[in-house]
Amino acid sequence: MKITGIDCHVLLAPNYDRSLTSSAQDSFIVGIHTDEGITGFGESDVNPWIAKSCIEAPGTHTMSLSLRDILMGADPRCIEDLWQRMYIGTCMHGRRGAGIHAMGALEMALWDLKGKLENKPVYELLGGAQQASIVPYASLQPSGHSFAEYRDSLCAWAQRAREIGFKAVKAEVTMAGPYAHSGLNESFDRHTEVVAAVRRSLGPEIALMVDVQYMWQDAATAIETVGQWKEFDLFFLETPIWVDNLDEYARLHEVAPMKLAAGEWLATHWEFEELIERGKIDVAQPDIGRVGGFLEAKKVCRLAATHDRIIVPHCWKTGLSVTATAHLAFNTSHCAFIEYLPPHLCHETLRRELVQEGFEFKKGRIQLPQRPGLGIEINEEVLRRFKVA
Ligand SMILES: [Mg+2]
Repeated sequence: MKITGIDCHVLLAPNYDRSLTSSAQDSFIVGIHTDEGITGFGESDVNPWIAKSCIEAPGTHTMSLSLRDILMGADPRCIEDLWQRMYIGTCMHGRRGAGIHAMGALEMALWDLKGKLENKPVYELLGGAQQASIVPYASLQPSGHSFAEYRDSLCAWAQRAREIGFKAVKAEVTMAGPYAHSGLNESFDRHTEVVAAVRRSLGPEIALMVDVQYMWQDAATAIETVGQWKEFDLFFLETPIWVDNLDEYARLHEVAPMKLAAGEWLATHWEFEELIERGKIDVAQPDIGRVGGFLEAKKVCRLAATHDRIIVPHCWKTGLSVTATAHLAFNTSHCAFIEYLPPHLCHETLRRELVQEGFEFKKGRIQLPQRPGLGIEINEEVLRRFKVA
């Protein structure tokens, strides 16, 4: 069997807003075709024009080959071998960052393809189910342009998530720092007020996580605020400190009254090695596409297990990536939750319309997928409608 074609789709929701901190407004989807008429799909959370170029750019020498050329004509079933060939062949323009994120979409598509060929769900190809069901957490999206609107929108979403049956939610509480919502610049005490309000809306039973999106530069400043958050019983605090300040993460880990989570942006398990060993984070958050695909994500999972850490994957894309994340979670016993932007709780049209998820969400839990491959359905009409390159 041979790969006969690779489609790279750059998708952008017409209602996208550049001032929002939401990468679910665009998407990068690949389709890998074979001479047996079967197609596998993958997705990655990366600027889609850049990812397309990473795949389609011509190669010029052995250390900077074309990803497309490496795959065309190859046997799609030899996934590990193909990943190595892509990695080694693109070291001078890839190795980390966008090159790896683009490879992640291709690798995901190869697993979808292999599952369809062997008539098995991807989690089975990865080694089988280690969990009977998965608990997703609902990512709550704040809205509004003032402190009060921001707080109240989060509380309203929290109540809505509880009504739908979610057992866990994550609130973005970011009104200061590099990714402050809608130009807000509120005091850290007001962040504490928002966390308190969301916890009150949820009640004590539902697990609560908080994402502050790299709000602080160092541990000393962060602890002044998060040191007061013990009473809110957070499951974790996500990316409290700027991504490069790993020693500051380690310092905060020593004193914080909750687990620290990070890793959404990282490429390859080598970056996670540094994050876990030097940054001492408690919860590793690989994003399957960004980290380089399932095999890299599984290496991160093994690394976390070796260091007694847990996994809660990042996912802020369409149902394609959400479903891929569920397959990884089913295969990972120390995966506590997966991120789940519920289609009915979000305003991102791509998330809502492009892909039908490959699993059932019932009573707050994701049920074991049954269909071969990822088991997702792409709506071709929506794909055409959102495609810009
Ligand atoms: Mg985040």
